[in-house]
Amino acid sequence: MGTTDPRIAQGAGPQLAALVGHWIDGAARAPVAGGRLADVWNPATGEAVRKVALADAATVDAAVASAAKAFPAWAATPPLRRARVMFRFKELLDRHGDELAAIITAEHGKVFSDAQGEVTRGLEVVEFACGIPTLLKGEYTEQVGTGIDAWSVRQPLGVVAGITPFNFPAMVPMWMFPVAIACGNAFVLKPSERDPSAPLFIAGLLKEAGLPDGIFTVVNGDKEAVDALLAHPTVQAVSFVGSTPIAKYIHETASRSGKRVQALGGAKNHLVVMPDADMDQVVDAVIGAAYGSAGERCMAVSVAVAVGDETADRLVDRLAERVRKIKVADGMDETAEMGPLVTKQHFEKVKAYVDTGVGEGAKLVVDGRGLKVPGRERGFFLGGCLFDDVRPSMRIYREEIFGPVLGVTRVKTFEDALALVNGHEFGNGCCIFTRDGDAAREFAMRVQIGMVGINVPIPVPLAFHSFGGWKSSLFGDHHMHGPEGVRFYTRYKAITQRWPAGIRSGAEFVMPTMK
Ligand code: NAD
Repeated sequence: MGTTDPRIAQGAGPQLAALVGHWIDGAARAPVAGGRLADVWNPATGEAVRKVALADAATVDAAVASAAKAFPAWAATPPLRRARVMFRFKELLDRHGDELAAIITAEHGKVFSDAQGEVTRGLEVVEFACGIPTLLKGEYTEQVGTGIDAWSVRQPLGVVAGITPFNFPAMVPMWMFPVAIACGNAFVLKPSERDPSAPLFIAGLLKEAGLPDGIFTVVNGDKEAVDALLAHPTVQAVSFVGSTPIAKYIHETASRSGKRVQALGGAKNHLVVMPDADMDQVVDAVIGAAYGSAGERCMAVSVAVAVGDETADRLVDRLAERVRKIKVADGMDETAEMGPLVTKQHFEKVKAYVDTGVGEGAKLVVDGRGLKVPGRERGFFLGGCLFDDVRPSMRIYREEIFGPVLGVTRVKTFEDALALVNGHEFGNGCCIFTRDGDAAREFAMRVQIGMVGINVPIPVPLAFHSFGGWKSSLFGDHHMHGPEGVRFYTRYKAITQRWPAGIRSGAEFVMPTMK
């Protein structure tokens, strides 16, 4: 991945428009005069740096109409030609990856190297989409009956929508649109209003790659835009990633109007530490998985489950030392290991959880609440926080915090650890650290979680597998990208044919059977 922008190469932030509009019919669109706007912040400086348009129903309607107009020709385009657009898009992403990463850091706050990683993980889905023609192949059976053949095809749905969260403004949209578009659909994206610039940059690259106008659309906005998409009769399917209450709402509302829905929600990911685990490996894994991206990852580890007090004591001692040393700074600072939280409001929410944990009687071993970053005093920075003795009845255990706050929960046995993980409302990711193959196998088999790691802290499946959780972490039937993504964005059709060949059996009133 590289950059064509010398400013980014020198570590400067990107130059972004002061007013973020939409991308409709293959071009940037200014916000409607007098329409609603929201502030977009630079979380490192704590300043409102630009405004984003909040689309009304009429703007959503225009976006969907342009997508619907473009759909038939795109659906009829040979899959290989559609894939070639993805190949060109992949090359452009390779070339402009650092510019995109700098845009992500400027609005989300995550450190630049982490933003580069986000772009890479998104790019892998584009690479997967380049090979989608293979997965669109149907099956064929000759002679299902005398003189009769049958085959199946997977056809695109039409106009499909994606609604995405703030924490991966490039990668999560890329879980969706490369697959949807390569399958022949027209895709309308409603990104997070907190970091809206990355999707518009991506839209420009798709145009440059030769994607026909109307096949990729961006409508910025909030609940009003989302509700307009959910109610729109032309929209055939909705992919959502965000918090659990909204995921539930999206699933219920869109399903009611007959749309296909996949809605991925929140998480509380457990990392189980067995007494025989390699503690050096565990501590490295926990530090990256719990505090990377300031804990604003749906696969972040937020609970470490230590099996046995001796394991817990060693773990907490080692972690405390490391958490205190995490370098928190502006994401464009090359030495930064952790950046700020996304907004002041989110910062206050996460800090309030730390206060709650103290009030509930958990032991706050490392307190990051007082942290000040020199030169960035108004930024939304919270230092890493570490709790010991977190009990399952506590709010800081039950609820998703989505910040740099890790809780250690002590249990006595492997069975207790498994029961704890399985008893939680969420089922996104989890992992076990052990040297015992038997324990690892038993864990992987019995745990009620969608994505499981064995000595792997963040078990995010690669693009050619599928991503998704269980329980309150996913509403709907399909996980995202990989083969599940192709199934979600296509409809199965079975065709049976007979050509006139002089076979006459007369009208049959019984169920047709093979003769
Ligand atoms: P969010 O639910 O607040 O917002 C997600 C999207 O929904 C945004 O586009 C937002 O504009 C829209 N939205 C918000 N409120 C709405 C409402 N009342 N009605 C209709 N639409 C609404 O989530 P967020 O804060 O942007 O992202 C963080 C959350 O996303 C966390 O809970 C995290 O776990 C989750 N997440 C999950 C996954 C996963 O794969 N399961 C991945 C990334 C993030």
